[in-house]
Amino acid sequence: MKTAVPYVTTPQNARLLLSFILTWVVAAGVLLCFIVPLHAQLDVRQVVEEGVYKPTLEAPVLDSLRLMQQARRDVDSLCAPHMAGRGYTHEGHTLAARWLVQELRKTGLSPLCDGSYTQSFTLKVNVLQDARLVLLGQPLRLGYDFMPNGACPARGLTTGKAVYAGYARSGSLPAGKLAGKVVVLDADLPQGSREQTVSLYERIFALIRDARPAAIVVREVKLTHSYSQEQWPVPVFHVQADALPFPARVRKVQWAVQAQLREQEVTRNVAAYLPGTRRPDTLIVLGAHYDHLGRVGDATFHGASDNASGVAFLLSLARYFAQPGVEHPYSLAFLFFSAEEVGLLGSRHYVQHPCWPLSRTRAMYNFDLMANGSKGIMTVAGKDYPALYAPLAALNDSLQCIYPLQSRENRPNSDHYPFTQAGIPALFFYTQGGPPHYHDVHDLPGAYQLEAFWVFRKLFIHLLTRMQ
Ligand SMILES: [Zn+2]
Repeated sequence: MKTAVPYVTTPQNARLLLSFILTWVVAAGVLLCFIVPLHAQLDVRQVVEEGVYKPTLEAPVLDSLRLMQQARRDVDSLCAPHMAGRGYTHEGHTLAARWLVQELRKTGLSPLCDGSYTQSFTLKVNVLQDARLVLLGQPLRLGYDFMPNGACPARGLTTGKAVYAGYARSGSLPAGKLAGKVVVLDADLPQGSREQTVSLYERIFALIRDARPAAIVVREVKLTHSYSQEQWPVPVFHVQADALPFPARVRKVQWAVQAQLREQEVTRNVAAYLPGTRRPDTLIVLGAHYDHLGRVGDATFHGASDNASGVAFLLSLARYFAQPGVEHPYSLAFLFFSAEEVGLLGSRHYVQHPCWPLSRTRAMYNFDLMANGSKGIMTVAGKDYPALYAPLAALNDSLQCIYPLQSRENRPNSDHYPFTQAGIPALFFYTQGGPPHYHDVHDLPGAYQLEAFWVFRKLFIHLLTRMQ
């Protein structure tokens, strides 16, 4: 006969209870490990059924990480030191074009222009090579403290006496006393002043015309460099306000500039395409400029945001659509423009010499400044082409990709514009939020988070896949 043993807490019983609890905790953990990835794969399959993503066993989060790493590698490649800011010194623009052709070959895309991946053209541009500026006995740092204006002419080492002219309002200057001197002036007029309607360049041109100074030093809060297609008769230097806190104290200025007005600089657009799966005779153009402001002396304008980011975005779309079995009804052109920074010259050349009839080019989408996105994306010309913008906005609402996605009127501010002038509906997208680096030496790869890159790519894949 077996007698019931009363349950007492002994050390052996406690150990048994502990191992029982531990076994269940481990079992639950193992179960979770299987369920979570299964769930993630289910999500992938759902998206695959919509015909958007290639079948993959990877969870979307891993997919996005891999793509973001690739995007960062592309931006880094375009901003590498030997690319020299993709400008007209050190062969920067040529090396960038060569790199792009290599990348397009790897994807297996076809050349767009008469069997070639490139479309050459010539342009006129003032190429600044180096400059020196000494104020109050201190040499200023090129790119950080000062920049010669893009229209600066070449000058050997010269020294001149300075005159401080304040805001250089017209009529307020003793023109006779300024001839042969260096005029130091403040660019940023006080907020709300009546003269704010008079632009800095109107004041500079009036000075050059009326006073004929030897040089002009412009003091301003933000240095913003750009190219010019001419040389002015007088060197103009832009000085960062912090580097010249007391402009009235400047008595003597020393300067030198190396510059070359090139009449026939040869550059090239890079272009490839993929035949459409339902309407191969009709083309959709996807564009991004690859050129930037180059290198002047030791100052390199890397242009990570402007526009290595847009090039990386376009390459990312090209690699996606080049995969076997991916549907896109229309033929897709991937156009990488040169000389945007000189005045939209690459895109203008393309519409004048199109590699595909413009009559069978249905739309153009341009991507420039794609490195940010914490404050959404702006669509330039969205208000002018509602038939192009509305389906994109509706798709964005249903997929909830970009917030906010906004639109404004057309402006001649990037490569979409020559297309609109040629009668092709076009939209230009730029990201909003992020650091304020624009056309300066601080536009570096490490400064950006590419917040909108992945989701905007997803939106465009949906758009181009479903386009009727
Ligand atoms: Zn740009």
